[in-house]
Amino acid sequence: MKGAVLAVGSELLLGDVVNSNAAFLGRQLAAAGVEVISSVAVADDLPRLVALIHHHLLESDLVVLCGGLGPTVDDLTRDAIAAACGAPLVHHAEIEAELVEKFRRYGVPMPEAVLRQAQVPTGAEALANPVGTAPGLWLPFNDKVLLALPGPPHELAAVAAPVWPRLAELTGTVVTTRQVLVSGLGEPLVAEAVEAVITLPEGVALSYLAGGAVVRVRFTASGDPSVLEPLVAAVDAALADKVWGHDSDTLDGVVHAALAARGQTVAVAESLTGGLLGAALSERSGSSATFRGSAVAYATDLKASLVGVPEAVLAEHGAVSAETAAALAQGARSTLGADWGLAVTGVAGPTEQEGKPVGTVFLAVAGPEGTDVVERRLPGGRDRVRALTVTAALDLLRRALGNG
Ligand code: ATP
Repeated sequence: MKGAVLAVGSELLLGDVVNSNAAFLGRQLAAAGVEVISSVAVADDLPRLVALIHHHLLESDLVVLCGGLGPTVDDLTRDAIAAACGAPLVHHAEIEAELVEKFRRYGVPMPEAVLRQAQVPTGAEALANPVGTAPGLWLPFNDKVLLALPGPPHELAAVAAPVWPRLAELTGTVVTTRQVLVSGLGEPLVAEAVEAVITLPEGVALSYLAGGAVVRVRFTASGDPSVLEPLVAAVDAALADKVWGHDSDTLDGVVHAALAARGQTVAVAESLTGGLLGAALSERSGSSATFRGSAVAYATDLKASLVGVPEAVLAEHGAVSAETAAALAQGARSTLGADWGLAVTGVAGPTEQEGKPVGTVFLAVAGPEGTDVVERRLPGGRDRVRALTVTAALDLLRRALGNG
């Protein structure tokens, strides 16, 4: 299968943005068995874009466009594909519903223009975007395929992740993927640490997928899969206790396994997460062996009456404080009768609390050896802060259990 990459955006030609998507796509396409014969950047210019799509469809089986899927008038990729393939744009109500829901979660009004992203060329499949708003597009055209991906590199990587195995199947390439799962370090620092210790063998692609306080370091090999083992081992060693799992592991699964191996249990006292932490710990079947329960002490007085936080601690330090988090964790441990107590208290928003800004979260774990408390400033709106808090709390317990 021959492939062409068209990176769309005048900013790429002006040198304002380095065309790193071309490098990423080149590596991933090669690993999926696609022979990339051309990779160019093109201005935000509709007739030129249509002409280039026509040209590349003549010599390639797959034309990949990246960028220009946003909501503004200079985002022309959808229109260009529609014009080049004679596939008029149709409005997809289910994409509109997803966009509305995303903006509700972001906690900001949705600009009318965003609805452009619910338009899909006739016959194209919309590819879900878990980390942004613009869906990707997969359009079979005669015996060829057009693929459109969003421009921001982390969105491109996330939208394209399910596309690589699909392409590998089309090209008949055997692709093996290994993932190292990391928490507690941002994507740039993870990348720096990884790239300091590895040299990529030929035929192996490296990518990073970040989301939900987890960074996935992903190696994809076409050909001999044994080349991946030393790479994974090197990343494990370099990132040490920041690594909590591999491949399809989940953080709650890793915590459950670590508790089960010790024959121990955990109980939770949670405030801003309103039950989400307990839900995460009880998600898998068999969790009753390790999860005792969760006290949702949302109102300040319940932190005292339900979990036993001393009134004096609440009065002196406030509900959102390291001292209250520690007392909640100790209270969960003793009141609910578990080996470990895990607690979270913080400000999910939309407004500050006790003079503390949105995103301020205190997490505590109390165990046989004592209590640890950490303070975090988490980004995003209410839903994101709550979701990130759950991940951070599970990660805190994992570390306390010595996994990593
Ligand atoms: P959005 O919804 O954010 O508008 P989009 O699909 O329309 O997404 P663009 O508007 O083309 O994408 O680009 C958005 C940003 O993504 C750019 O400002 C740039 O930071 C980054 N970007 C775009 N194309 C590339 C590229 N080829 N290489 C690296 N970064 C890119």
